[in-house]
Amino acid sequence: MNTLKKMQVLCDYAQYDLCDYVAPTKESSPNLPGIYQATSNGCKIPLFKVLMTNKCMNNCKYCVNQSKRNFTRLELKPEEIANTFLNYYNNDYVNGLFLSSGIVKSVDETMENLIETIRLLRKNYGYQDYIHLKIIPGASKDSIKRAMSLADRVSINIESGTESGLNEISPNKNLQKDIIRRFKWINNLSKRNRNLAPAGSTTQYIIGANNESDEEVLSSVNELYKKINLKRSYYSPFESVAGTEFENHENCDNKRSNRLYQADALISQYNFKLNELIFNKEGILIEEDPKYASALEMDIFPVDINSASYKELIRVPGIGLISAKKILKIRKKQKFKNIEQLKKIGVVTSRAEKFIKIDGSYQSSLNF
Ligand code: SF4
Repeated sequence: MNTLKKMQVLCDYAQYDLCDYVAPTKESSPNLPGIYQATSNGCKIPLFKVLMTNKCMNNCKYCVNQSKRNFTRLELKPEEIANTFLNYYNNDYVNGLFLSSGIVKSVDETMENLIETIRLLRKNYGYQDYIHLKIIPGASKDSIKRAMSLADRVSINIESGTESGLNEISPNKNLQKDIIRRFKWINNLSKRNRNLAPAGSTTQYIIGANNESDEEVLSSVNELYKKINLKRSYYSPFESVAGTEFENHENCDNKRSNRLYQADALISQYNFKLNELIFNKEGILIEEDPKYASALEMDIFPVDINSASYKELIRVPGIGLISAKKILKIRKKQKFKNIEQLKKIGVVTSRAEKFIKIDGSYQSSLNF
């Protein structure tokens, strides 16, 4: 099979790894495999996203590449990926590379193939732009360090927030040893040398493939944000794949992963504590915007726009980080007198009005 055909197959398989992924658009994507639009700080960036191989010795029960599944296995060589990628890059089709892989023969050998690909790009071809490299769980410290010296961002898929949850879906991996310990190494290495993977590390959870609750997943990611300086987490709703051990499992509703993204933003950007989020008895986020659900349970409301602290303002549904900062800046010069002034600076007043007072006056009745 020629390189283009292998590339077509392996780029399709790479869709299962998330990296700020949004659907490719026709105008931005020539008819070539592997071009995806990523988002960073609100900007769209076309990336070349490819799996080095769909061969894998592991047997993660949900995964399209699991060893027990019967399908055609392919592998690309480092030179094939490097040359194809550079061709895309030099034609301005993409601005960066996202490289991942199944595990062939051993973790060490797989890591060496991944590193060799990006080494060729950096050292032989002088490529300077963005590279995101997926680290294989269980990789050696030395290989992680070398990968970090060549990549802008690295990630390890954690898949699950608990050891028992991981065991249910990926019995070949150990959460603490193969994943958390590696994240600690990444964090320590980058603290010692800021040039190693300067864009930091990310991870991905598979949601709904096991019995794990949202509370367990969010508790896990909260620890990663605090302890290993994780930059971002992705929540991939489980989708059954024919021929895998989980082919008859129920798919996860996208609404659940969307709520996890909302709750994650509250933890990572709004400094919410886990116990400020509202879960049902099973530990699943209730079916409501997590910030709104949390506000209904807080006894701080209504807060006065002219005196509330930043921490209180950002807990008001409809007031985001930017509008809270604007409120603080404006009220240093003049008091807010009516809700229209809030609307003008971007507050979603239909959501906020129940929770605020302006200069002592309620904007709406708190009718919960
Ligand atoms: S290690 Fe598991 S999740 Fe990763 S490619 Fe192999 S089977 Fe899939």
